[in-house]
Amino acid sequence: MLPVSVVIERLCATIEDYPSQGIVFKDLTPVFADGAALRQVVDSLLEPFAGKFDAVAGVEARGFLLAAAAAYATGTGVITVRKAGKLPRAVYSESYALEYGEATLELHQGDVPVGTRVLILDDVLATGGTLSAAAALLERTGAVVAGIGVVLEIGALPGRSALAGREVHSLLGV
Ligand code: AMP
Repeated sequence: MLPVSVVIERLCATIEDYPSQGIVFKDLTPVFADGAALRQVVDSLLEPFAGKFDAVAGVEARGFLLAAAAAYATGTGVITVRKAGKLPRAVYSESYALEYGEATLELHQGDVPVGTRVLILDDVLATGGTLSAAAALLERTGAVVAGIGVVLEIGALPGRSALAGREVHSLLGV
């Protein structure tokens, strides 16, 4: 079996100037569409955190795919960290700056039992704003962030420093 980093590198599509000028967009949908690659990616994301979490949170939307697969594989539940305005009950909100634009993430209040150890998954770590906001939301509900796993990390951007003090694992750095 090829190393997971090689599998991701081979399948990931790179799109220049999307969604705006100067952004190099890393499209992992071909990785998700390949059954063997998806399984290897999810298994690899889980490996460093084995036994250390009780639930998996995914960040809308691509993080949902990874979180659902990871939760199913480990018999844990999925927590959905959503974009603003999608959740019907009382929420916590966190706004943050993106590599391109601004965004707000939300999480239902009271959905995560206090003390739950949560692994957060997403596709790409860029500036780290998204995952910092997701971690902050989970902590506001009383959860403990067990760690963060991403498929791909953009090394030129300060994602790691934004998440300093947290256990972060990426499968490929570019
Ligand atoms: P950031 O908050 O800057 O770390 O951005 C991470 C979020 O935005 C992830 O949910 C990614 O899906 C998306 N994202 C940001 N930059 C890129 C990029 N260059 N390629 C693909 N996705 C990106």
